[in-house]
Amino acid sequence: MEQSNHVADSLDALRQVYQNCQRCALAASRSRVVFGHGRPGAPLFLLAERIGDMDEQTGRPFSGPAGDLLMRILAAPQVEIPARDVYLSNLVLCRAENNRSPRVAEMRACRERLAQEMQLVDPQVLVILGRLPWQHVLGGKGSLERQRGWYRTPEGRPAYVTFNPASALHGEAHAIRRKKLLIYEDWQAIAAAYRELSGD
Ligand code: SF4
Repeated sequence: MEQSNHVADSLDALRQVYQNCQRCALAASRSRVVFGHGRPGAPLFLLAERIGDMDEQTGRPFSGPAGDLLMRILAAPQVEIPARDVYLSNLVLCRAENNRSPRVAEMRACRERLAQEMQLVDPQVLVILGRLPWQHVLGGKGSLERQRGWYRTPEGRPAYVTFNPASALHGEAHAIRRKKLLIYEDWQAIAAAYRELSGD
């Protein structure tokens, strides 16, 4: 499944390069490639783990309940980040059978695309949503809850690690409430940096 890496000069060109991608085994389980969503120059690049069923149906990442919750968080008091300032993408662009997490080889196969996508968007902050992107991009280990917060990517870009909103959708009511509170705290910190960087 080896394919040459083409350096694209725009997000649309990159999308074209990957629209029929066969670089990893996920090509066999997807019904379509779900490319990142947003505009070049968006100050925040949100990186999650994988494509869900609803994303595959709509062709947009974060189309389901986790995306709805994310939009409510972005609009919440003391966050108030416009959706146009957020770019959404995933470690891999293709859905796996049974919605399992991507394997290391699959994330590696999609890494060059992610690096190019990040360069083309050129955000001020990378927001890492969840354990797998934290591990894959920053080598994170241990408790994500205890180690949420600011990092730098190997390229020197500021990065904030927080939970994926999807993790606050299931479980006991008190655990959901607590997780939502932690996510809200994180997004207040991200919003403060966003406003500082954008000169507000
Ligand atoms: S997950 Fe990425 S590398 Fe794998 S087939 Fe899809 S686009 Fe290609």
